[in-house]
Amino acid sequence: MPLASSTLYDWKKRYSEISEPLKRGKGVRLTEQEWEFAIKYFNDLCAYCGEYMSDPTKDHVKPLHDGGTFTRDNVIPCCKNKKCNSSKKDNEMLSWYQNQPFYSKERAQKIFDYMDFVVSLGDQSEEQSEGELVVTKEVTKEVIPDVTAQIFWLKNRKPGDWRDKRETEDTTAIERLDRILAGMKEAAEKEQGGAS
Ligand SMILES: [Zn+2]
Repeated sequence: MPLASSTLYDWKKRYSEISEPLKRGKGVRLTEQEWEFAIKYFNDLCAYCGEYMSDPTKDHVKPLHDGGTFTRDNVIPCCKNKKCNSSKKDNEMLSWYQNQPFYSKERAQKIFDYMDFVVSLGDQSEEQSEGELVVTKEVTKEVIPDVTAQIFWLKNRKPGDWRDKRETEDTTAIERLDRILAGMKEAAEKEQGGAS
């Protein structure tokens, strides 16, 4: 079942509560939990072509040889099809993607939203107040209409009107995300402990 946007909203909010260990974990190698989160964020669909992935591969948005890193803000799930991962190879992501027949503005925006989100996890304390959602900024930019972001925005602005609908949420997805969250926190703390 695809992850409902309201589930993600809830989860992102809870995510901010553990920003401290995550901030310390910034720049460390992609963890299994972070990878699992990335796959879930893209609803088990290839970030580029949008097809279901039974066996997702890790694609470096910025190629390694070009200074890209194996971290949560540079790795997205991609299908194994020849047209995606192996055709991208070391090309610059957007210029490669825009030349593909399966290019989609919406999916490109989702990739950038995802990267903004995970990057923001490490910078929580700098400008954002506690309850502020990263996605709100995305809507203000209005580069490309993003239904998901608009829903976040609505929920944020009119909690009374929108949030009550969450009762019908897929709780399995929430539980799964909670487990991922717990794992990420643990991994970040372990990383921190091991480094000091
Ligand atoms: Zn693909």
